[in-house]
Amino acid sequence: MTDKKVALVTGGSRGIGKACAIELAKAGCDVVITYAGNSAAAEKTVEELKALGSNSDSYKFDVSNQAEVDEAIAKIIEKYGRIDVLLNNAGITRDDLFIRMDAEKWNAVINTNLNSAFYVSKPVVKLMMKQRSGAIINTSSVVGLYGNPGQANYSAAKAGLIGFTKSLAKELGSRGIRVNAVCPGFIETDMTKDLPNMDEYLKAISLRRLGQAEDIAKAVKFLALDADYVTGQALEVDGGMLI
Ligand code: NAP
Repeated sequence: MTDKKVALVTGGSRGIGKACAIELAKAGCDVVITYAGNSAAAEKTVEELKALGSNSDSYKFDVSNQAEVDEAIAKIIEKYGRIDVLLNNAGITRDDLFIRMDAEKWNAVINTNLNSAFYVSKPVVKLMMKQRSGAIINTSSVVGLYGNPGQANYSAAKAGLIGFTKSLAKELGSRGIRVNAVCPGFIETDMTKDLPNMDEYLKAISLRRLGQAEDIAKAVKFLALDADYVTGQALEVDGGMLI
């Protein structure tokens, strides 16, 4: 048990999730991260979090598997006693033009990027309702707002997260729980490292640079810890790509 705020970051071992975990630890939270399979990355991130004074641990489970989620979240709640911040961040891409997209690619992305938020939020919201406080942030994408060729599955999942965010915000506000989404633009992580035509994207970004995971982490920290009167919002953090 701990007196500090406890933050749970799914997919917190790498990329955007890792940067968010570190920002929340710097702000004084105990940060718990989850991951799918890359144990080495998770262990390294936990060491970095501990070096910042966070009582941290990592949990390996598939966010698209409700039974695995329930088991892991129960263990986290038993160990930490409370969850003040939940960042539903784990996600994948399986891009293809719609005409070629098979059901496997569609379902993998919907299950991992959207159904996961339902599975993870369910036990966490129950706990936050008892606490009468909490902040949930869902990692959506600008693609969920504006669409993108080759990403019908991904944009559907990310748009779904925005609807989920707004509905939960309306249901849970009276219980002291805020729910927001962050919509990153193009951020330099493993997920985007092989994307073609980056120069073309750069021309469309007002700030003329790709985003860094830390750019998203600052927005997530704001929504998680500072934005006391902000709920139901989808905050675009894209360097002015879509204005
Ligand atoms: P990333 O570098 O590929 O990291 C993905 C993280 O999610 C890893 O920790 C990974 O664990 C975990 N993960 C993946 N599938 C999982 C599963 N089934 N169960 C549990 N954990 C799983 O991705 P990223 O670029 O940081 O993206 C993070 C989030 O931001 C995603 O939701 C993504 O859609 C969103 N986003 C990214 C961008 C961008 O430009 N990068 C833009 C908009 C939105 P392992 O390390 O074990 O694989």
